[in-house]
Amino acid sequence: MTIATINPATGTTEHEFNPHSPDEVQARLGRASAAFAALASTGYDQRAEWMRASAAVLDAEADELAAMITTEMGKPIAASRGEVAKCAKAMRFYADTAERFLADQPLDEPGAVGATRAYTRWQPLGVVLAVMPWNYPLWQVIRFAAPALMAGNTGVLKHASNVPQSALYLDTLFERGGFPSGSFSTLLIGSREVAAVIEDPRIVAVTLTGSEPAGRSVAATAAAQIKRSVLELGGSDPFVVLPSADLDAAIATAVSARTANNGQSCIAGKRFIVHEDVYDRFAAGFAAAMAALRVGDPMDEATQVGPLATASGVAELAELVDDALGKGAVALTGGAPLDRPGWFYPPTVITGITAQMRLYREEAFGPVASLYKVDGIDAAIALANATDFGLSSAVWTNDPVEQERLARDLEAGAVFINGMTVSYPELPFGGIKNSGYGRELAADGIREFCNLKTVWVA
Ligand code: NAP
Repeated sequence: MTIATINPATGTTEHEFNPHSPDEVQARLGRASAAFAALASTGYDQRAEWMRASAAVLDAEADELAAMITTEMGKPIAASRGEVAKCAKAMRFYADTAERFLADQPLDEPGAVGATRAYTRWQPLGVVLAVMPWNYPLWQVIRFAAPALMAGNTGVLKHASNVPQSALYLDTLFERGGFPSGSFSTLLIGSREVAAVIEDPRIVAVTLTGSEPAGRSVAATAAAQIKRSVLELGGSDPFVVLPSADLDAAIATAVSARTANNGQSCIAGKRFIVHEDVYDRFAAGFAAAMAALRVGDPMDEATQVGPLATASGVAELAELVDDALGKGAVALTGGAPLDRPGWFYPPTVITGITAQMRLYREEAFGPVASLYKVDGIDAAIALANATDFGLSSAVWTNDPVEQERLARDLEAGAVFINGMTVSYPELPFGGIKNSGYGRELAADGIREFCNLKTVWVA
């Protein structure tokens, strides 16, 4: 794949980049390895100071950065600014919390194990490879890098080939904040070069956010090397609406859940599962609100939905929808790419989906909502779980018994009740089933790439 910025709003190639040579990749791995020795011997206070300084760089350059993100992958400019601010927040969060999350934990009764004292200690592992997607070009990387560096690990980034400017910005960000040279750097390489990097003895672990095929490939290579991996893969999250819900709020939130980031979010609500008692009102309100969204130039502040990031993304989404419509499904709104320059697909609501259609089980990575009618909570849970994915879920009900039942029975890494799934630095994030394994963010995220060492004293 060419490493290039191709503006999705116009289809124009703005910048092409030469990949790093094998020698350059070796040099960068060498610097990352040397930086680990330096970083692991610094204290939390020092790292926190550098992390806060790095966050300040983001704050100072937020407008230029937001424009770069929108130019590279097409999200509305206000959303790009929000992404930059969220990154700075997460960096400060880990600057504030890393020491507490990784503090020694003494055993209350060491005598039970024949010791006078016993405790566990979290220690960094070394250089971690991050393979990242384009949909949140800054956030996906920062949510790995901030905890990794605060723990004392160093990182190398293989970013998606369509966001090289974001990748190169991240290449220098932490050094500009004061971290030792090589603490975090970018490898401008294609996906075929990833396996060799994982196999390099200087790499101790790998984290991948992306598609299932990429996850399988990276995890297989890591397993063969007995190296730890974290996988954040796709999702087809259910958004369940039951009769006691505040329907207006549910509809408004459903629209945001399906169209945020132009619909290209792993944790987007993708399958809307609605109780028959409120289905007609939900369907009418949802389709009308989706149809009313302003689609257009993502640099325009008034735009709510911009283009998809790639031409292939539009083609794949169109194939999924065509397959469903060809087999008898109905589009309440949208249903075909827009006939204009750039890669635009309109907000779409599809009903009448059956298990024979690809849309029933595959992830729709764009603003296409699948709408289902069910006759009760049992059917809602069964349909919600009828997927190979298990990333997150959202449920709308004001009945506490139903809330508890859904929180217990949905097969997902998270359940958001009367809201939509959002990632927060304070909350663990990750999936089950084919959505991957491991957790990012919160205390769990910083511990993923640490050695939990047990110390026993006679
Ligand atoms: P993708 O094709 O898997 O790309 C993601 C990254 O993996 C890119 O850097 C890509 O490099 C690299 N890659 C692709 N194939 C690879 C392979 N065989 N070996 C090693 N690296 C490989 O993903 P995408 O389609 O662009 O992104 C969308 C997917 O990511 C969706 O399924 C979405 O749900 C998922 N996602 C998940 C999360 C989460 O947190 N769970 C968050 C965001 C997105 P190139 O660009 O060079 O191909």
